[in-house]
Formats: sequence, structure tokens, C-alpha cells
Amino acid sequence: MSEIEQLVAQATAEFSGIGDAAALEQAKARYLGKSGSVTELLKGLGKLAPEERKSAGAAINSAKERIEAALNARRDALRHAALEEQLKVEALDITLPGRGLPTGGLHPVTRTLERIEALFRSIGFDVADGPEIEDDFHNFTALNTPENHPARSMHDTFYLENAPGLLLRTHTSPIQVRYMETHKPPIRVIAPGRVYRVDSDATHSPMFHQVEGLWIDEDVSFADLKGVFTDFLRNFFEKPDLRTRFRPSFFPFTEPSAEIDMSCVFCDGNGCRVCSHTGWLEIAGSGMVHPNVLRHVGIDSEKYTGFAFGMGPDRLTMLRYGVNDLRLFFDGDLRFLSQFR
Ligand SMILES: [Zn+2]
Repeated sequence: MSEIEQLVAQATAEFSGIGDAAALEQAKARYLGKSGSVTELLKGLGKLAPEERKSAGAAINSAKERIEAALNARRDALRHAALEEQLKVEALDITLPGRGLPTGGLHPVTRTLERIEALFRSIGFDVADGPEIEDDFHNFTALNTPENHPARSMHDTFYLENAPGLLLRTHTSPIQVRYMETHKPPIRVIAPGRVYRVDSDATHSPMFHQVEGLWIDEDVSFADLKGVFTDFLRNFFEKPDLRTRFRPSFFPFTEPSAEIDMSCVFCDGNGCRVCSHTGWLEIAGSGMVHPNVLRHVGIDSEKYTGFAFGMGPDRLTMLRYGVNDLRLFFDGDLRFLSQFR
């Protein structure tokens, strides 16, 4: 084998034994670089006799081409191997279960509020809103609670510093007052929202929710109150046999006034721990709207009568979902809240 053929065989063998691109380029320099073996051979051509020069040059060029071909083949092979390796490292195991995005959900109390609103809308009630910072008139005076009346001490009120007469509303009744100021009877409205009182334990939170309802028209009677509210509770708890009872009570803004109890939704009135073995659960306050309240908002109390009720959607939520601590609703703990997704 001639010296040139040996060089081609040697280069081809060397290239094919190299495993990385940098080493391959170094090897290339040894054959095809400025002082590489092939280059040296070409430089030597000038020393040859003219008649030998042509055939020797052709042989060297052929050898150069074959070495370059071997080099390129090895480059391709290395590039291909690198790609294969990368694909292997970055491979996806499509049999693994996906992580997925967590789904949000409505807060359980929001669910209850939406349910209450839907049920009352279905019988023609409007849903009203109002400010959480109220003035003394709308929170107390208009609701038949005069200055220094002992009824005002029924609420532990948050008053605003440096803003005389302003307070955080203690009930959603002021929404109804504002609604009566701007609407004429017949009035059918519920007023859901946050209210504030200085109170905090397992069943009381300084911020909680209320839904109050009001129906004012000619000839609205206590029987309408019983019918509407009992029907609401049966639909809300999906218990067609649920019973209610009305116990005499006192509120400054209604006369007569009544506390509403419903048969226990856990034991159907047979007695259990939740209802303290009485079979009944307190669920709302209610009554016929006091004529003074109608007068305060300019409604003729001789012509119109109405009933009002107020309930706690937080408590309704606790009863519907079997939750025993009110504070869980407002702690913002996702382990609790995500159960209601
Ligand atoms: Zn019970």
C-alpha cells in the first residue's frame, strides 16, 4: 500500500475511533491543517519532477477528498449520536399521570348566598345592595331605634374614629331602608351582605353575613310571612317535610315580632346533639314591619303593611354542610375550602 493510501486508512481509522466533536476537530488539524500530513504532501509536490507532479497531485487530492469525506461522515455520526442522547435525556414519559391545574371554587358562604338569591328571585324578589359603612340614621334611627333607646345596646357596634355618626353596619336592614326610600310599594326585596359586631367565638365572628327580606304591599299578613319563609327553608334544605314554628320575640323595627325555628335538619325533629335534643333549630328573626319604620321612609302605614325577616347565611351554610366552627369559613385555609369545589 502506498504512503498516501496508508495515510487515508490511518485517518479513517482514527476518525472512527473518536467519540467527541472537539477531539475530532483536533484530529482533522493533524491531517488537513496548515501543517497537517496531507498539506505537507501537497507542499512536497514542488520538489517532484514535472512529469511526476500531475499524477502525484491527483493522488494526493483524491486522498484529501476521501479523508474529508471520512471526517464529514464522522461529524454526522457524532451529531446524530448527540441528538439521540439529548432526546433520551429529555424524553417524556407519557404514561405518567398529569399534574393538572388546580380548579378554583366558590366559597361555601358565597354558594349559600347565591342559592338564597336564586330562590327568592324565583318568587319575584329583587336583590339589593348597600354601603358597609353606614350612618346612624339608616342603621338605627330609621329602624325605630331612637337615641338612648336600650335597643341600641343590643348591638356591640364598631364606630368609626374621627367620623362622628358613621359606623360599620350591624345588620343589613339599612339596605332595606335605602331601598324603601327609593322604591314605592309593592316592594319585594332581599338584602344580603356583610355586617359587623364586636363578637368572636366558635359561633360568632366580628364580620359575618346576613340576609334580610322585606315584602310590603296592601294586605300583606303574618300568614304570608309564614308561607314564604317556610317554603324558602324547605327549598333551601331540600326537605319538603321541614316544619317551622314562630315564637313571640322583640325587635324595635317589627311589631309583632317572632323568632323562627325549623325542625332539625339532622334528625328531622326527633332530637339529636346538634339541636340539643329539642328537635328544633333557631334560624331567623321576623315580624310585621313597624308602622314607624314605614313612616320614616314615607310609606303610608294605613294603606300598606309588610313583613320582614333576617337570617344568617353563615349558619345556614354550617347546617347545610355540617360544619361546626364558624371561624373555618373566614380562616382562608385551602384544606377546608377546597372541599367545597
Ligand atoms: Zn336534631
